Amino acid sequence: MAGELLVRVRLDWTGPGHYEHGRSRPCRVCDTPTQMRDGRGEACHQSCAEDELARELLGTGRARIADERVPAPGAARRRPAPSGGAR
Ligand SMILES: [Zn+2]
Repeated sequence: MAGELLVRVRLDWTGPGHYEHGRSRPCRVCDTPTQMRDGRGEACHQSCAEDELARELLGTGRARIADERVPAPGAARRRPAPSGGAR
């Protein structure tokens, strides 16, 4: 990879939907009990959700950097579509 990418995700979980008082359940990521809930209501630590998102974004970003193509608006109409596999 010819480039560097740092990804840091900070979610806003201050809303009441992200906390279930008195009901600890195993975090879907690390299996440690938590009263925190993700956006779908599943038990999940905020830090675990943030790390998970950061890893996904990092993977996507690294692939884009390795590809070294940055799609610009309208660029697809001016250039032939990439055939893929040309490295
Ligand atoms: Zn966790």
